[in-house]
Amino acid sequence: MKYPFLDLGKVNEPYMDELVAAATRVIRSGRYIGGGEVEALEADLCGLTGVPYAIGVSNGLDALRLILRAYKEMGVLRDGDEIIYPANTYIASVLAISDAGLVPVAVDIDEQTMNIDTSLIENALTDRTRAIMTVHLYGRVAWDERLVEIARANGLKLIEDCAQALGARTLSHGLHDSHHAGALGDAAGISFYPTKNVGALGDAGAVLTHDEELARTVRALANYGSDRRYHNIYCGFNCRLDPIQAAMLRVKLPHLADENADRFARALAYARTIDRPDIILPKMSREVNDNVWHQYVVRVPAERRENFMKCLAENGIGTDIHYAVPPHLQPCYSGMVHAPLPVTERVADEIVSLPIGTGISVADAAEIGRVINGLEF
Ligand SMILES: *Cc1c(COP(=O)(O)O)cnc(C)c1O
Repeated sequence: MKYPFLDLGKVNEPYMDELVAAATRVIRSGRYIGGGEVEALEADLCGLTGVPYAIGVSNGLDALRLILRAYKEMGVLRDGDEIIYPANTYIASVLAISDAGLVPVAVDIDEQTMNIDTSLIENALTDRTRAIMTVHLYGRVAWDERLVEIARANGLKLIEDCAQALGARTLSHGLHDSHHAGALGDAAGISFYPTKNVGALGDAGAVLTHDEELARTVRALANYGSDRRYHNIYCGFNCRLDPIQAAMLRVKLPHLADENADRFARALAYARTIDRPDIILPKMSREVNDNVWHQYVVRVPAERRENFMKCLAENGIGTDIHYAVPPHLQPCYSGMVHAPLPVTERVADEIVSLPIGTGISVADAAEIGRVINGLEF
């Protein structure tokens, strides 16, 4: 492949010397659980987003699980409470909800943003609704005044699945006067899965929150439920962040803004080049940084998608689908009761992700765009 969809070796190549030095530092330190590397990364995350509390955890799914489990321990959520989520998301958002004994309630998406359609949320409310999990999918911030109003009016917690959108900002106000994704709601889950905009060299994640009690509870739950050594106040888990991954992330986090700017430049190159009526491009927004372009997702006619991807592969261009089957249609959720989700189900058959990460240049993106313009598929 001339243009692989994502070459993670190439993503990390520019940081090689620093990564090796950081790994060596951790190995020599003798401190392999917790400690200074994790604390320093947590401080960096607070600095980046403006939240007062950040807790490094094992991965993005665990970050969301821990937030929901902590709210249960705090008595904010109870078994069977309903949590609203956007039907177009990665399954981890939904797994976190069902894992905590809560009921995921899918809401359809807005075709323009591919994120939750906030005008449909009120219809989905019941007397068991306790929270909304908004997902900044593909790096685009899913947040508006309406979301805030609905949450305030109904006493709902607002949780952000920020796995794909670290570094994004919006002009809309959050609950805490912040504009940073991850600092807009009550709590946020971050993922540092290797393919994310800031990727570890393995699994890693974080919880961000403005709530001191939630932060304390998450920290305890992630460490066997203990508030101090050999004293367990909850039946917890082992969901800690490895110091070696924290050290890797401390090398890469300072470059996030530049990397996100590069993603924007590639997205712009696609937007300016690709020009054909049978391909729908994602909306470029005017709000600064309200999309950090984790994925660049175009839509092609469903019956021609397979052929489109095959023809691109023949031209040396890798593609992927995020995500081919929405969570509510996965076998594990076959019993899920849900409202009709026509937009999510339709676009799932049309979406194709083009290469956007480090590894392709702006000129490459323009070249891929020209190939697409000339493609017979
Ligand atoms: C990656 C991702 C997660 C899960 O993160 P992991 O670190 O892979 O567990 C959750 N939600 C979304 C939207 C994601 O993209």
